[in-house]
Amino acid sequence: MKALVFHGPRDIRYDSFPDPTLTSPHNLIIEVSHCSICGSDLHLYHGDRIGPFDYSAPQPKFCTGHETIGRVVEVGADTPSYRVGDRVLVAGGAGCGLCPACARGDIRRCSGQSPGVAYGISPILQGGQAHYLEVFAAETAAVPIPDYVSDEQAVLLTDAAATAHFGVRRAGMREGDTVCVIGQGPVGMMAAEIALALGAERVFTIDPVAARRAQSEAFGAESFAPDVARAAIKDATGGVGVDVVVEAVGLASTIDESIRLARVGGSVSILGIVQGSTQSDAGGVPPLRRAQGKTVSIHAGIANVVDSWPELFTLFEAGKIRGADMFTHRFSLAQGADAYALFDSRADGVVKVMIEPGL
Ligand SMILES: [Zn+2]
Ligand SMILES: [Zn+2]
Repeated sequence: MKALVFHGPRDIRYDSFPDPTLTSPHNLIIEVSHCSICGSDLHLYHGDRIGPFDYSAPQPKFCTGHETIGRVVEVGADTPSYRVGDRVLVAGGAGCGLCPACARGDIRRCSGQSPGVAYGISPILQGGQAHYLEVFAAETAAVPIPDYVSDEQAVLLTDAAATAHFGVRRAGMREGDTVCVIGQGPVGMMAAEIALALGAERVFTIDPVAARRAQSEAFGAESFAPDVARAAIKDATGGVGVDVVVEAVGLASTIDESIRLARVGGSVSILGIVQGSTQSDAGGVPPLRRAQGKTVSIHAGIANVVDSWPELFTLFEAGKIRGADMFTHRFSLAQGADAYALFDSRADGVVKVMIEPGL
């Protein structure tokens, strides 16, 4: 088959790769209909780090991508929820599928493997920016797509919408809270939309790109450029700060800003992938001193994805969140390198790209 294959930083190529085969009765093979590029894929594109993986060092070749939907072409013997031809959405990562944690949707605590195995960030799970994908642990880490969920929404449910939902819920947001989301990439934009749908009284967003600020204002957020945001948000909250901050960037400066914007007793949820170069600052004493002084709770983590689906399906079915207009550009799989370059550049008003192998 053809797939997008990681050859090194800024060198993701449309390339030949062996077809996936079923390696377990708990797995599926799908023909990929749609996939996207996650902001965290840009970390491997830049030669940064994701968890233990350092992409500046030589890597064995692997298929990239962890935001994939498709149609089932082959079912494992132990996948009773699926038939050939079903539309399926695949969580960005999979656990073993057999342990108690996997059974309750808490994939991050899977006892059958080291936590945090995502598709397409290493050769452990080949990625879904490809014509075909082996879906692991399909009964616990994937789901047939309900009819009312569009292809665009389904792609968002593989990661971005679920990560956003995780961030908002993990911060303990309640109805009537004031919320600030730092960063209006796809995850930040979904977090703002989900916070409003779940009853936030006001949602402020911060992003340097004017087009992204305009998009988040279109669904009801109040959006500011970084240089004026702190003063504006303090002013809007009577000098108090917001109840909940969702940080969707991962830089030392934005993590520090998230603690500054939180009210005394507030809560911060860090979703941006924290980079090696920022860790000493972000995890160091100054932000923690400020957090302690303000009694701000700090949450950081990687979403399970699957445990966000029930509430997100309900919100999509009720039309309370949309998300579809987030996809600003479409590409064929053969144009994958162009898709990465555009998404990385943030040019041309790009928010999220859709890649359709069938184009
Ligand atoms: Zn991701
Ligand atoms: Zn497990």
